Parts: sequence; C-alpha cells; structure tokens
Amino acid sequence: MAKFLFVAGGVMSGVGKGVATASIGAILKSKGFSVSAIKIDPYLNMDAGTMNPVEHGEVFVTDDGTECDQDIGNYERFLDRNLSTINYLTSGRVYHAVIEKERKLEYNGETVEVGVHIPEEIIARIKQVATHDKADFVLVEIGGTVGDYQNVLFLEASRLMKLASPNDVLFVLVTYLPVPRMLGEMKTKPTQHAVRALNATGIRPDFIVARSEALVDGPRKRKISVFCNVAPEDVISSPDVSSVYDIPIQFEEDQLGNRILKKFRMKERAKDLKEWRKLSLKAKGKAPEIYVGVVGKYITSGDFMLSDSYISVVEAIKHASWAKNRTPRILWFSAEEYEKKGALKILQKDLKQCDCVIVPGGFGERGTEGKILAIQHCRENNIPYLGLCFGLQLAIIEFARNVCGMTRATSREFSKTGDLVIDVMEDQKRLLETKKYGASMRLGAYRCDLAKGSLAWRLYGKKDAIQERHRHRYEFNNAYKEALEAKGAVFSGTNKERDLVEIMEIPSRSFFLGAQFHPELTSRPLRPHPLFVGLLEAAIKRKKSPKR
Ligand code: GLN
Repeated sequence: MAKFLFVAGGVMSGVGKGVATASIGAILKSKGFSVSAIKIDPYLNMDAGTMNPVEHGEVFVTDDGTECDQDIGNYERFLDRNLSTINYLTSGRVYHAVIEKERKLEYNGETVEVGVHIPEEIIARIKQVATHDKADFVLVEIGGTVGDYQNVLFLEASRLMKLASPNDVLFVLVTYLPVPRMLGEMKTKPTQHAVRALNATGIRPDFIVARSEALVDGPRKRKISVFCNVAPEDVISSPDVSSVYDIPIQFEEDQLGNRILKKFRMKERAKDLKEWRKLSLKAKGKAPEIYVGVVGKYITSGDFMLSDSYISVVEAIKHASWAKNRTPRILWFSAEEYEKKGALKILQKDLKQCDCVIVPGGFGERGTEGKILAIQHCRENNIPYLGLCFGLQLAIIEFARNVCGMTRATSREFSKTGDLVIDVMEDQKRLLETKKYGASMRLGAYRCDLAKGSLAWRLYGKKDAIQERHRHRYEFNNAYKEALEAKGAVFSGTNKERDLVEIMEIPSRSFFLGAQFHPELTSRPLRPHPLFVGLLEAAIKRKKSPKR
C-alpha cells in the first residue's frame, strides 16, 4: 500500500507550496523510494491550456500532451520523472467525470451528490496514481488556501482517506510567517488561524512548513507547537532561499524526511542528497557570469515582473549554465518596446549586454514585430540565438523577409494574405472553424528525425531521432522550403510521419537554431537540455572572443 502526503496551504497563496511539495518528493526519492505527485487545481477549467500565462503562469505540457499547471514542471524537475494526465486534477475534470458516469448509468439510479460522489471520484483518482506510477509515496498538492471554498471537496477527500487508513495518510500545511517591518518580529498568529481553519474541515496537520523571510527560531516553533497542536520538531523552518534547489537541503536541516518516515513507521533505504548539495553550491553563483537575454511578451503585469510565465525557460537556462560552470543572469526584454518609433537604439543597447538571446513561445500578434527585430539583430550580429516554438516561427519569418526578400512574409496566425511561411494544418483549420480550442493544438511528445552532420544532430549526441514536447497550432509551410534553403537555412529536424519541419538552423552563424517544440520542458537540474547547453557553449565562446 502506498503512503499519501497531502500538502495544503494556509495564510496566503504564492509562498511556494508547489516547490515545497516537489522538495519533499526529492527528499523521499533520495532516501530510496519511488515517489509520484498530483497537482490539484480547484478551478473549473478542464486543463490550463485556455488560460493566459500572465494570469496563471506558464502552461506546462507533459509527454502525453496534457496542458497543465507549472507545478507539474516542478515535480518533473525535482523527481526527475515524467508525469502524465493522471497527475493533474481540476474541479472541472472531476465534475466532468462524475457527470459522464451519471449519464452512463454507472451510479445505478442513485442520487448523485456533490458531498459524496465528488470526493469518491477524487479518492479513486488519487489511488490510481499510486498504482499506475508504482509509487511508494504519492504527494497530493491541494491548490488554493485553506478557508477557500473552492478546494473544500478536495480537503474532504483527504480527510476520508485518512479516516479509512490512518497509518497511510499525513497532512502538511505550508503557511507563512510575516515579519512586519514596523515590528521587526516574526508573527505566528496568521498560522494559528490557518490551522484553525484546517481543523474546521476535520483535518489536523502532521507537519507545518513555516515559510518566512528568515529561519523560524525555537520560541516561535514552540508557540506554533502549542497553539497548532503539532510537535515542535514537526514545525519545519523554510526561510527564503536564493535557489529553489536549496529547499530539499533546507528541509533536511529540520530532518523532515526522517520525521515523515518515522510517522509512517518506515526506514530509509538510502541516503543521497549529494547531487542536490552540488546543485545548491552551483546556484550560489561563484562561477563567472553569463548574460542571457529573453525577448518576450508575458513579462509584466502592472508594475510587477512575471518571470513565472517562462519558468521552464528560466530553469533550463540555469541547468545548462551550471553544467557549463557559469552563473546565469537573465535579462528580460519586452518585445513591444522595440516596436516604438526610434527604439532600434534601445534594442541595440539591450542586446549588446547579452551573450546569447532566446525568444520563447508565444501566441497572437502583439509584440511579434519587436521579436522579429530582435531576431534580425542576433542573426546579423552573430549573437547566439535559440528560438522556442514561436521563436522558431518568427525566425523563419525574419529570414524569409530579410534574407529571401519576401517582404510580406508572415504567419496565418495573424494574417490571411502575404507569404504565409507559417501556416495552419488542414485538421487545425476545421478545429478553429468550430471553436474547438481546448486541448486541440499539436500537443505532447512527437518524433523528430535529425539530419546527419547538422548542429542539432551534434548537440543531441549524433542521434538519428529524438522525441520532444509540442504545443502549437501553426507550422512551417513546406512550399517555402527550397526558397529558404537556397539562401542558407537548414531544416535539420523533421517529423517524417506528417512531413513537418521541427528544427531550422543557419550554419553560417555561430549558433542560430529554432525548434518547433519546447526543449525547456524536459530540461532537468541534473540533466540539462542539449539545445540549451549548445546555446550556452556558444555564448561562452562569444564572450571569450576578443573581436566582440
Ligand atoms: N502561436 C504559435 C502556434 O500556435 C506558437 C505557439 C508556441 O509558441 N507555443 O503555433
């Protein structure tokens, strides 16, 4: 029988519950166990695919094509395992399944009730993960904050699971301890209230992960212990850290892993946070710096920066930089700025600071001309460039316009006329006409054959074919292949089954490569992605070059 750890949040959102969950997973994995995880998002959406990244953060995609919350990305990176659609639950998914069952008479004429059948469905799905993923531990992160009414049925499901098998279920509450500036003291009261709210649902936390600016000291641990009904050793201090990869190590300072095993009456099978300790050191930033420019769109909201919209890109840059013994500095540039009159000077100044540039994924016309200008600048000045999905499509448009002389080159995504070098596939046309937008892009892992001798082929260790994850509706239009090849573009990755271009490179440049897929999604802290490593190598070389 698997053990289940539910992780809920109190006090406020955004304190890193996802990373806390992933870190507990990393610790248990390092102790020799098989660990899987589930993210529960209480909203009604069937998946994250229709949500705006500025509002929701990055949409992560699994091998099987599930468009899900970015926390699934955290789990994959921390657990170093691929997850799938069963590892992601939303209220929409659960209700949809229950209503479908009712229509199929699967409830044998019973009255189908929210308070009974919804938790029952949730529990069945949680248990399914344990069996399917052959997990010793399943971590279940309940989205939202205790006290919200949207996640009540998920808490109820966890309560019922504990009731049915008390020795197999534990609860972790991640809270926040503010240090108000005018007081200068860490306050526990919001945590006490959060625990009370959790108690009202019939749940008593086994652990409190106390997020705060600083370490939680003895007196405060004791206070939380007394008022929240947990042992002081089960109050786990989780101060702000400069790198998320420090968190498993931080939790282990308070012996969280062994405390969990003790409560489950289990013994550790191994002890190995070695690799994490190495990572943590690299993240401390002693190595020389390397500057990576990211020209994007979902970067600001009001007065605030939002690097969460590109979290996998950020992590992939870190992984590759650390592998090359560099400390990455990411410079964010908003593409729309480059579209303003007289902005060329700003663009030149911005990109001059960069050792390499990335244009990440994106949707819609806003900001595209600015990105195209940035790509042109990289190509003309031999600045190493990596285009991710939209970044490939725009690189192709740029090349068609400025190298092949097709001044009206564009994408079907924002134009019906002109040279549609990026077009839409027939099956996608039908989906768009009937407004079938949800989960209908080209999603998930597909095969890509590599051209022998190309840059991509070399970077991927001279493999004939690879698998990479996709999320796009538009494609390179093969009618333009010869025209672009004649001017020096190489289509080094293709999907033979559907005759689709997957990778374009320009061999005359030191590093200029665009991929129709999303390599950032499969980069792992200890296994950086080869395309990012290639970009970083080129950036380091350029930095060293005296000609620069
Ligand atoms: N908007 C483009 C498409 O749908 C690119 C998508 C992306 O970058 N993920 O094809």
